Amino acid sequence: MSAVWEKIDDMDEVVVDKKAERKIELESQKLEKRLCRNVGQAIVDFNMIEAGDKVMVCVSGGKDSYAMLDILLKMQQRAPIHFDLIAVNLDQKQPGFPDHILPEYLKKLGVPYHIENQDTYSIVKRVIPEGKTMCSLCSRLRRGILYRVAEELGATKIALGHHRDDMLQTFFLNMFFGGRLKGMPPKLVSDSGKHIVIRPMAYVNEKDIVRWAAQQQFPIIPCTLCGSQQNLQRVQVGNMLREWQTKYPGRIENMFSALQNVVPSHLMDGSKFDFKGLKVTGVADPEGDKAFDADEFPAAAANFPASLQVVQL
Ligand code: SF4
Repeated sequence: MSAVWEKIDDMDEVVVDKKAERKIELESQKLEKRLCRNVGQAIVDFNMIEAGDKVMVCVSGGKDSYAMLDILLKMQQRAPIHFDLIAVNLDQKQPGFPDHILPEYLKKLGVPYHIENQDTYSIVKRVIPEGKTMCSLCSRLRRGILYRVAEELGATKIALGHHRDDMLQTFFLNMFFGGRLKGMPPKLVSDSGKHIVIRPMAYVNEKDIVRWAAQQQFPIIPCTLCGSQQNLQRVQVGNMLREWQTKYPGRIENMFSALQNVVPSHLMDGSKFDFKGLKVTGVADPEGDKAFDADEFPAAAANFPASLQVVQL
């Protein structure tokens, strides 16, 4: 090949590279916009952050909490109100925990932060017999410590990095193994009664976080350092949801919407709806319940397995 052609070949590659770079940049901008929109919407819908709040952002070193801090910092710059953020990490002294990573990262970000050193690992190891799961005691200890730290720091809100998929998983875990229709709330009062806990990532889907974490190259700290086994039930439910989403796209979104559209009169909890005291109103209501007609689900019908089709009698 002549030198001229080689040169043209090289230029083609440069053009293709530039195009690919531009595409990645656009995707990244879109992703950032979506993350900010989702977080902003959750903050507004549940009145999570108010003027003058000091939000303690719990950062573990996992992708979710890095993403939460990152997005909250962006929101802080754009918000019409003033609020403060302080990142907090609890170093539980798990063997091999790289304790320099978070302070270095947070310093570089320029965000106020506090590292709380508490050796809960030794306590859990001492108390829980070998081979048993340590997570329940570990998280109880962590919760108590974080509440205390929030008080000491004067934080008015505690932000956790759980996202939409965590919330759905919790909902199914409670239903399958706990016999309750109960999810993971976007905002709650702590069991100590003293703190408001918020989940600003409530509307964010995990896939977006995975992509954002990769793009931003967060210095992820592995979460398996403690050697505890993963909660098998949670893994199973997570797999089930992923499988559903692959087979029936849109199902996750529908289920998540359902969490925000609860109809107590069409469930069976007498404490949420007064079935015993139900009386006729004598007034026709076009929006009322058509008890003899089955509900129709046009969008879902096409994706439903034949063996599970509803048969009208
Ligand atoms: S995985 Fe380890 S650090 Fe996490 S809650 Fe369980 S025991 Fe604690």
